[in-house]
Amino acid sequence: MKLTDIITGAKPSLSFEVFPPKTWETYDQIRDATEEIASLHPSYMSVTYGAGGGTSDYTVSIAENIQKKHGVPTIAHLTCISSSREQVKKQLSKLKDAGITNILALRGDLPKDGSARSTDYSYSSQLIKDIIDFGGFCIGGACYPEGHPDSKTWMDDVKYLKVKVDAGCEFLTTQMFFDNNILYNFLYRIREAGINVPVVAGIMPVTNAVQIKRICAISGNALPQRFIRIADKFGNDPRAMMQAGIAYATAQVIDLLANGINAVHIYSMNKPEVARQIKENLTGII
Ligand code: FAD
Repeated sequence: MKLTDIITGAKPSLSFEVFPPKTWETYDQIRDATEEIASLHPSYMSVTYGAGGGTSDYTVSIAENIQKKHGVPTIAHLTCISSSREQVKKQLSKLKDAGITNILALRGDLPKDGSARSTDYSYSSQLIKDIIDFGGFCIGGACYPEGHPDSKTWMDDVKYLKVKVDAGCEFLTTQMFFDNNILYNFLYRIREAGINVPVVAGIMPVTNAVQIKRICAISGNALPQRFIRIADKFGNDPRAMMQAGIAYATAQVIDLLANGINAVHIYSMNKPEVARQIKENLTGII
């Protein structure tokens, strides 16, 4: 099923993200977690792609399993910054054979460890063009309400986002954000710039306060005072932090829905309990 049909339907959509295993040894454990999340019947699930592409087969296999066994539509992520055109084509063939028709086309983070960088790809818009040439996929891309860390200005970021959409990106999923006003301002800016594709709001339920402070320091994500107080108060108590993180994320989703954002994606990070509680909290709302 085409993802754009799901996220633009009359009903709001609620989706969950999972990541594939890094090794064969952990495959069963991760597959089971993704199946538990699939059994909650989200609108769709996304499966990330390991940087460097070394786990690309697991992305296909986890996405195929969710779709075939649980009937939940999936979207497979695909990055290009460490790949050749040939490797991308092979991955597209594998996805097609597995019945996966939705792709989140990404550049990937620039390798910092000196590992090889693609000579074929510098930006996601080039990957998008190749996927279109291959044919048969509904293509999405990433967007950054607080700006991508590589962008010098937000104007640059919006300019290149338009290039990506004009290349054939049919919808966008946002990087996590913790203050909904940041998303509302971003939407205003991109709509003004003529970017009119559907935008899925990405929400991260924070269950580990130390980790999220580190991630935000690197990515430049703003942490509102209200959130910092919660993290400082409950960060040392895993159970309390999980409940507070779920409550904070739920409140964000309810505010988004109240403001007309009808597609919400939860960065559920292979945590069935987190996905289940968010789904339950939204009973009767979504
Ligand atoms: P691009 O769209 O290529 O943009 C990257 C930067 O280049 C931006 O600053 C942009 O403004 C700039 N730019 C774009 N085009 C041009 C141009 N023509 N000239 C000059 N500058 C340009 N990473 C993974 O490894 N695996 C995943 O599964 C994964 N999933 C993600 C899902 C979401 C929803 C998000 C938001 C991110 C995800 N990432 C993932 C991280 C992502 O790969 C990184 O953020 C990466 O640094 C940028 O990818 P992109 O596709 O947004 O890049």
